[in-house]
Amino acid sequence: METATVNYPKRRGPKPKVHVQTKMTELVQQRWDAVKADESSIRSRYRNELSVADALAELAALRKLCEIAATEVNQRLNHAGQKCKSCGAVMDSRKAPVMTEPMFDVATGTYYNNFYCSIICVQRRNLKKLGREELIK
Ligand SMILES: [Zn+2]
Repeated sequence: METATVNYPKRRGPKPKVHVQTKMTELVQQRWDAVKADESSIRSRYRNELSVADALAELAALRKLCEIAATEVNQRLNHAGQKCKSCGAVMDSRKAPVMTEPMFDVATGTYYNNFYCSIICVQRRNLKKLGREELIK
């Protein structure tokens, strides 16, 4: 019996970003675990063991993780206990609002946000702004 050999083309271009991102996340998680485990070993690692280039790369990854965590916490704090501008429902602090509308109060000179809990509430807002309130059910 004769068998055929198939030559698949070699992969071109960069590998998918998801793989790189996963790898980076694992690396950051390992570093974070190490930070929690022993502060002095971290000092030693960044002072003596790693090259400056590697230390800077790891530091950048850790900073990115901290920034993500801070953004998430900030979003929770920003809308915790706030009410939806359209329906008046109290926003769930565990969920991000469907839409956050930055506003400026001319009278007081302060910035604030309007939060909307659902697509329907955003649609109601849009219809009001367009002067088409008769379409709101
Ligand atoms: Zn709402």
